[in-house]
Order: sequence, then structure tokens, then C-alpha cells
Amino acid sequence: MNMSDFSLKGKLAVVTGGNRGLGQGMAVVMAKAGADVVSIQRGDSCPETAAQVEALGQKCYAISCDLAKLESAESVVAEIEEKFGPVDILINNAGIQRRYPAEKFPIEEWDLIMQVQLRSVFLMCQAFGCRMLERGSGKIINIASLLSFSGGLTVPAYAAAKGGIAQLTKALANEWAARGVNVNAIAPGYMATDMNTALIGDSTRSAQIMDRIPAKRWGIPEDMGGTAVYLASKASNYVHGQVICVDGGWMAR
Ligand code: NDP
Repeated sequence: MNMSDFSLKGKLAVVTGGNRGLGQGMAVVMAKAGADVVSIQRGDSCPETAAQVEALGQKCYAISCDLAKLESAESVVAEIEEKFGPVDILINNAGIQRRYPAEKFPIEEWDLIMQVQLRSVFLMCQAFGCRMLERGSGKIINIASLLSFSGGLTVPAYAAAKGGIAQLTKALANEWAARGVNVNAIAPGYMATDMNTALIGDSTRSAQIMDRIPAKRWGIPEDMGGTAVYLASKASNYVHGQVICVDGGWMAR
């Protein structure tokens, strides 16, 4: 193989939740590897991400879409491909968290988590995947979690959804691998983003978490970069249905 197999030059990458957190980290690394980027979030713009992507000489477009209300992603992919061209890479990253003891978990919050963290991901995979299958090539990266493997505490909906992401990734890979579309997932460990503000602020929980991370630090969005580029690039063409942990060694403990 050549090192150019890792290049994303000339590619178009769509990142849900590319405006901040892990999505921003992955959007910027896509640009570093040569791709133009479309970020999908609730707002109309992603100024911070756009500034970083454009500073690298790549284009960054923002599309507004509330995944909590998504019933079909057909119009989303149609709008993006009409305006910006064929999508080579889809990163399903956007997500939310809700914490309640399981016996008190409100069903509306369960439904919301399932919609944003699992149902909308399937709709996005289906709509973008159809077009990738027609072209015979494409890379889909779903963002899973350590809770794709374990149950966690007070996050039953999130754990159920992220377990579903791991299974969905494998199910799609089985059907699409021979047709030129790679579907894989990244399971981040404990990452310092807005989603974890409460955990980071809880000194007891934060110390317990840190104690278990072999790398002895929380992850940062940039830590997602190497794995994201690898799974988005030709270098991973024979990799299908994998859930790769980027977790500072957490799963090895
Ligand atoms: P952040 O809270 O920092 O960012 C969440 C992103 O999702 C934002 O860009 C947000 O955009 C977008 N988003 C949320 N709800 C919607 C919606 N209804 N429609 C469109 N976009 C939405 O989270 P992280 O960066 O930490 O998490 C990113 C992914 O990684 C998630 O799937 C999360 O579950 C997963 N993950 C995170 C871990 C961590 O430790 N941080 C660990 C394991 C997995 P906006 O609000 O602007 O619309």
C-alpha cells in the first residue's frame, strides 16, 4: 500500500454534529486529510468548524437539520448532493445524553434518545448508503460508545441505543461490504466535551473515571482523528463491521 491511501483529497465528508465536540474534531481532521466538509446540526452555521476547515484550504458547508424530528433523510442527502456533489464519507456523530435512575427514566426521554442516537442514524445510513451503493463506493462511520459494550449507570436509553449502533454497524456491513460500501464504528472513551460537563464537574466520579483510564487523561476531539481518517480512507477498504475503541485503554482494564 501507499501512504497516499490515507489521503481524502477530492472527497466530500458529511459529519453530523460537526459544529462542536468530537464532530468538530473529526470534521477538521477530514479537512487535514484533504476532504471538503458538510456539517449537520440544528443551527444554520458552524462558524468555529468552518474557520478551522477553511484555514486548511478546504470548503466547509453547514446544513441545518434537527435529527430529533428526522422522519426521512432522503431530502437531506438530496439537498447536499445537489448543492455540493456526491458524498464519499458519512460520519454519524451527533448525539445527546439523558441521566435518570432506570426506574424513573421518563419514556419521552427514552424516545428522544432512541430517535437521535439510533433511529436517525439508521435513516441517515439508509439514505446516504443507497447513493453510495449505486456508485459502488462509500465510507460510513457510526459513533458508538463504551456503552455499546457495557450498561453504565443511570443511562439505560443511551446504553440501549449505543448497543444498537454496534449491531446496526455490523448488520449494514454484512449487506454492503461486497458492494463497495464500508460501514464501521468508533467507540470513544471518556472525552472532554460539552456532553460530559456534569461528569467532569463531579470530582468523585471524575477521579473514579480517571483512575480506570490507563492513559491517565480524558480524551480530546483530536484523539478521534487518526481512526476517523483511517476508516474514511482507502487504507481501510478491507475493514468492515468493526467497532474500534479510542478510549485511552479503558476497555483493556
Ligand atoms: P457534544 O454534546 O459535544 O456535541 C453533540 C453534537 O450533536 C453537537 O454538534 C450537536 O449540535 C449535535 N446534536 C445534538 N442533538 C442534535 C439534533 N437533535 N439534531 C442535530 N444535531 C444534534 O457531544 P460529543 O461531541 O461528546 O459527542 C459526539 C458523539 O460521540 C455522540 O454520539 C456521543 O454519544 C458520542 N460519544 C461521546 C463520548 C464522550 O465522552 N463525549 C463518549 C462516547 C460516545 P447542536 O446542539 O449544535 O445542534
